[in-house]
Order: sequence, then C-alpha cells, then structure tokens
Amino acid sequence: MEQMDYLKRSWAVVDLDQLDENVRLIRSMLPADTKIAGVVKADGYGHGDIAIAREMQENGAEWFAVSNADEAVGLRDHGIQRPILILGVSPVEMVETLAKKQITQVAFSLEYAKALNQEAQSKGVTLEVHLKFDTGMGRLGFYAPEGEEDALIQEVLQVAALPNLKITGAFTHFCCSDDRSESARAYVHMQFDRFQTLSRLVQEAGVPLPLRHCCASGGVLLYPEMALDMARPGIILYGLYSDPDISNVLPLKPILSLYSTVAMVKEVQPGRYIGYGRTFQADHPMKIATVPIGYADGYPRSLSNRGRMIVNGQYAPIVGRVCMDQLMLDVTHIPGVKRGDRVTVIGQDGSCEIKMDDLAASVGTISNELICLIGKRIPRVYVKGGREVGVMDSIRQRP
Ligand SMILES: *Cc1c(COP(=O)(O)O)cnc(C)c1O
Repeated sequence: MEQMDYLKRSWAVVDLDQLDENVRLIRSMLPADTKIAGVVKADGYGHGDIAIAREMQENGAEWFAVSNADEAVGLRDHGIQRPILILGVSPVEMVETLAKKQITQVAFSLEYAKALNQEAQSKGVTLEVHLKFDTGMGRLGFYAPEGEEDALIQEVLQVAALPNLKITGAFTHFCCSDDRSESARAYVHMQFDRFQTLSRLVQEAGVPLPLRHCCASGGVLLYPEMALDMARPGIILYGLYSDPDISNVLPLKPILSLYSTVAMVKEVQPGRYIGYGRTFQADHPMKIATVPIGYADGYPRSLSNRGRMIVNGQYAPIVGRVCMDQLMLDVTHIPGVKRGDRVTVIGQDGSCEIKMDDLAASVGTISNELICLIGKRIPRVYVKGGREVGVMDSIRQRP
C-alpha cells in the first residue's frame, strides 16, 4: 500500500473494483432491461467524474447524468461516448455545443424549451431533450394540479412542435424515496402514479416518450419496480447513503477512503492549551499528534474537540479546534506514534473503522454533502486490482 502515500500529506483512495461491485449489486435490484444512468454530477460526488465514468462505461452504465453543461462537455471530451443527460438548467448559449456533442438536455418548462429551440434554430442544430415532470418535488418540471392535466398536455404539445428540439424521454424525481415511513411511502406512490398518468396522457396525445425514468438511489433500493426504462442512482454508486433507512438493502461499500499523516508528535504538560481559542487544555501529561488536514480539505470544523481518527489501528480523538489546514489528535494511549505514520480519516485500519455516513450524522448532515466538500487539495488516487491506476490532482494540474 506504499504507493498510496501519494504526497505524504493527505489523500483519498478510490477503489474502482468496489465501484464495479456496487454497480453489479445495484443492477441486481433492477429488472433486466432497465438501463442505468450513472449520476456523476458534482465531479462524481467528489470522487472525480472522469475516472468514475470511465470505469462505469467499461462496466455497466448505459447512460450518465450530470447537473450542468460544463460537466457534460467535460465527460464527452474525456472519452465518455455513452449518452449523457443534463439534469439541470444549461445556458442557451451552450445549445450548439450540446447538440454537436450529442448531449441530452432536460426541458422543464415551455418557456425554457422555446428558448432552447430558438437558439438551436439559429445555429441550425437539433437538440435532444427529456421532459421533466414535477410530480411533487417542487423543483424543476412541468407541473399540473390534479384535474388540470389538459394545460400541461397543451404545453407539451407545443414543445413537441418546436422544430429543433427532439423529445426522447421523460422523467420525474422522488423527494422522499429514502424514507420508509408510511407517509413517505404514500407520497412516493402518489408521485409515481402522477408520472404514469402524465406520461400516458402525453403519449396518447401523440408524443412518444421512449425512455421514462423515475428512480434515484432511494427509488432503486426501495421501489425498483418503479424504475421503468432507466434508473438514475448517484450516492449509492459510491457506497454511501442519504438515509439509514435504505442502508440495509444491499451490501454496498464505500469506495473512498481518506488518509493523512502525522507531521509531529509532542509531549504536552498539564495546563498547556491546544489550538485556536484555547478550547482544549491538557489536564494530564499528553502526547499530541499534529495532522495536516483541516476544513479547507473538507474536514468539518464542527468536529473540533468531537471527532476522531485512527492512528496505528487505534482511535485518536481530535483535541482543540480543527484549523484550515491542520488539526491535533490525542495519541497519549497509542504507543510509538511518529512522524510519517498514516492517519485514517475515513476508512478502516485494523478493527477500527470511521464511516462517512456516521461522520455526516454526527455533523448533522448527510454523506452527500460531506463527500462533495472533500477539497481539491486532496489528490484522488484510483486503485484497481490492488494497483494504483491513476491520480486526480487538481492543485498540481492547474493551467
Ligand atoms: C442528484 C439526482 C439524482 C441522483 O440522486 P441520488 O440520491 O444521489 O441517487 C437523480 N436524479 C436527479 C434528478 C438528481 O438531481
């Protein structure tokens, strides 16, 4: 594992074999002819979108989904040939590029569809779009109250008549599919029924919707029967969960581990303070290790005097405040700690393990947020078959 001590500061290891295994398990949940759109927005949930998408392109994903045009173009320009769907708004100025690179844009309102079409027409291109229906998320999408579907159908017919847009699918997004409570389940069913009704009416009105999709991670795990033509898993690809309610369906495992190193060990006498604001004072002789990772690397400052890491197979509590670039650990009880020793921030060392899902819960957020916040200063080292196969280093590779 020596090759992983990449910069001898702090780094992440991304296990591509575990990604393959997670994709395999996810596929086993879904009907055989349901496609998978690997969601790699936000730089592949912080793991590095190119490496993740390349691996998934080899091993299972028929589509990819991202949040915006730049992410989509980035994938296309780095060897991703499968269809790509943009889930959010793109500037209309990007329409020509998207059409030429065969990237599918979400069309979420008549007004936006008209703007896309106008630009496509002026550039002489045709843009493929998936319609988005807002069935209860209240975010993007064509919306119609129950009983007033006619207005929505009329809008969709107007979109279908726009000469430079081509509708190739439709989707919706569940807002509580990772929650097993009775009322959440009822809401998911309401959203799904609504989607089925709207897409049936649209198709009856003469607009085919060849690719229909509803399920993100929560939907894949709790409602695989609602996946229709394609599923859009994100967070579970990475072996993480937005809610403990969905964590026991499949034996998915996190693919990212985060490491740092001991920079210095010092003996501290009773009465001495540790860190900014003097929030920690030694009350007995202590051994303190300074570790080069901080909130600029994405480690939450709110874990000051609260979090813990693993050093030489034992838990070491954080003492004092988490700084921007460093923090201090109490290693009094761990024999032989010295400069250069590996510190496990997220992951396993011996019988000790720190899980991102637990860390997120103790901060009062979800893994989705913390995983995206791992800083660009942290190189991502990709490992496959026990070997390092690539590194993403945003600091070293600046223009
Ligand atoms: C982010 C997102 C997904 C993936 O969500 P996960 O919960 O991470 O699986 C799927 N669809 C849409 C529309 C999204 O915005």
